[in-house]
Amino acid sequence: MTRVFNFSAGPAVLPQEVLQQAAEEMLDWHGSGMSVMEMSHRGKEFISIYEAAERDLRDLLGVPGNYRILFLQGGGIGENAIVPLNLVGRKSQPAVVDFVNTGSWSSKSIKEAKKYCQVNVAASSEAQKFTAIPPRESWKLSRNAAYVHICTNETIDGVEFQYTPDIAADTDGAPLVADMSSHILSREIDVSKYGVIFGGAQKNIGPAGLTLVIVRDDLIGQALPICPSAFDWKLVADNNSMYNTPPTYAIYIAGLVFQWLKRQGGVKAMEQRNIAKAALLYDYLDSTGFYSNNIAKESRSRMNVPFFLKDETLNEAFLAGAKERNLLQLKGHKSVGGMRASIYNAMPVEGVQALVDYLKEFEKKHG
Ligand code: PMP
Repeated sequence: MTRVFNFSAGPAVLPQEVLQQAAEEMLDWHGSGMSVMEMSHRGKEFISIYEAAERDLRDLLGVPGNYRILFLQGGGIGENAIVPLNLVGRKSQPAVVDFVNTGSWSSKSIKEAKKYCQVNVAASSEAQKFTAIPPRESWKLSRNAAYVHICTNETIDGVEFQYTPDIAADTDGAPLVADMSSHILSREIDVSKYGVIFGGAQKNIGPAGLTLVIVRDDLIGQALPICPSAFDWKLVADNNSMYNTPPTYAIYIAGLVFQWLKRQGGVKAMEQRNIAKAALLYDYLDSTGFYSNNIAKESRSRMNVPFFLKDETLNEAFLAGAKERNLLQLKGHKSVGGMRASIYNAMPVEGVQALVDYLKEFEKKHG
């Protein structure tokens, strides 16, 4: 068996230990005589899996007691509609929602939200081709917004918030909503600074199909009447994420990933590793004229590293050589071009080192 180094932006690499454990438990989970996939979501076996996953996630992120953790479906794109459907009802209609446009994913969120509310783009880095997070001082927030939406890590553009923006002074208590799909659990965060955190699982958590929502409890219970029941946070919370059948197998794998994270020393230790991995790659990219990363240093993502070859006619040869060395999924997103290496929690430092070694080798040959 050959395991490759998979730099996919998502679905993405998972810890090998987790996959091994899942393989061992596939046919008979803990003497139950069945696979987790076959279990009733209401049975005691699955409830124990669910409760452990919830508890471990709460520990890992330090989620305060007045926040609910919801296990949903619909992905990040689903949340682009689900969030307004649950939050704009807090204000008289039509409500205003503030957005900071930092890249492809916040642009998508803006487009979807326009179906449900008035959108105010408080700041945008579009004119700079999304190469930096607009400084907090430049944001033009509306005082009466129902909420303020940010995407804290732009998977496609490769920019990441390195701080939690403080919006209290400029709003009447608007909650901060963050799409953390592509960096949740990669760094420490203060959950109490956010009203809502959401993210699809398929980067740092587990299989696609599971979406996490962490929501402060006073923001639950104001969904618009047209909100689909399965996405009304109150119904979901009151039923411990079992109003409808949750993505049981994805929750089980996420639970194994949470246990793995705890064995690695938790989010703090993982963050240190992610800082080191990102530095290894960026330092090399910056040291050569052969490759480049165009993102402002203070906004660079530790998870998604877009880069370009100076001579783009070599792109195909670069990707072919990478494939020969089992370094896969390095082609950049079509909207940005070039290359992109996604280096999530489960990407070992050896994978990043192998990539840097290949970057050097390719440069030596073609530089
Ligand atoms: N937000 C971000 C930051 C993402 O990276 C993605 C997926 N790449 C999404 C939202 C959309 O997620 P999904 O495809 O699961 O709906």
